[in-house]
Amino acid sequence: AKLDGRGSVQGFHQHFHDQLLRRHRLVDRLARAIERHELRLHYQPQVALVDGRLAHLEALLRWEPDDAEPVAPGEFIPLAEHAGLIDRLGDWVMNEACRQQAEWRAAGVDGIRVDINLSGSQVLGGDTLRRLEACVSRHGLCPADIGIELTENVLIAADERVLAGLRHLRRRGVSIAIDDFGTGYSSLSYLKHLPVSALKIDRTFVRDATRSAEDRAILEAAVFIGQRLGLEVVAEGVETAEQLSLLREMRCELAQGYFLHRPRPAEALLDLMRDAVVD
Ligand code: C2E
Ligand code: CA
Ligand code: CA
Ligand code: CA
Repeated sequence: AKLDGRGSVQGFHQHFHDQLLRRHRLVDRLARAIERHELRLHYQPQVALVDGRLAHLEALLRWEPDDAEPVAPGEFIPLAEHAGLIDRLGDWVMNEACRQQAEWRAAGVDGIRVDINLSGSQVLGGDTLRRLEACVSRHGLCPADIGIELTENVLIAADERVLAGLRHLRRRGVSIAIDDFGTGYSSLSYLKHLPVSALKIDRTFVRDATRSAEDRAILEAAVFIGQRLGLEVVAEGVETAEQLSLLREMRCELAQGYFLHRPRPAEALLDLMRDAVVD
């Protein structure tokens, strides 16, 4: 039998082979992305819902290769983790976020925290948390100028050593947020032992809340739990006016999403940040 074309055995292998090849090439290029200055950070505002004030920024990594289309972090971050490149990328992110925060402070905007994302392999393995602390002081920042975001699954997997590192950072004043809250495979009981200060409700809950009363109840419960535990609550992925007013009704404290502000480069944020500083 002839086996080629779509859906055939040979087609399947071909597809698999192409995928591997693409990944291999991406890893090669990613390894050189730092030296080639192809990485940069965009920042997305987290806004206070009572008065629209810009409260914090989330740093989001962008890779724009010189000779190719931009690659989404959803694709290259997992790749970097597998290829052992994540610590190098993570250090670049940490350093760049601190450098930018110091520059903003020097320009007279302060009190706006910059949050960075840390993935599991960064936090659970090496000494990323220690290096973060060193990075903050090297740039002359206060611990409260920087925050970290970790998913529930990372927090659940944290052993005593990692938890001690997180507690230490938290005591110093570094904000620690649970990212994508509600999407992990955990019960809620873990919330009470963890050194966290903020809860970021995953955007799927925000998206669904305007669809049915049940979905709305789930979002409301998440907001409520965060508040009752004394955590800062951020709703992620707000895309419509309807979602925003629903969150206001629920007295959710902070929101982030395309409807409010898209992630943008640092230069494009200075005016917005100046307006946010109340003196
Ligand atoms: P995340 O931490 O959950 O970040 C939020 C993602 O949602 C960002 O995607 C952001 O651009 C996007 N987003 C913001 N508002 C909206 C909205 O209203 N609607 C929709 N549909 N999306 C919205 P992005 O930048 O592509 O990042 C994807 C993921 O990659 C992040 O998810 C995070 O897990 C990871 N990531 C990004 N930067 C870093 C980094 O520096 N280090 C690590 N370890 N991971 C990173
Ligand atoms: Ca995040
Ligand atoms: Ca998130
Ligand atoms: Ca995520």
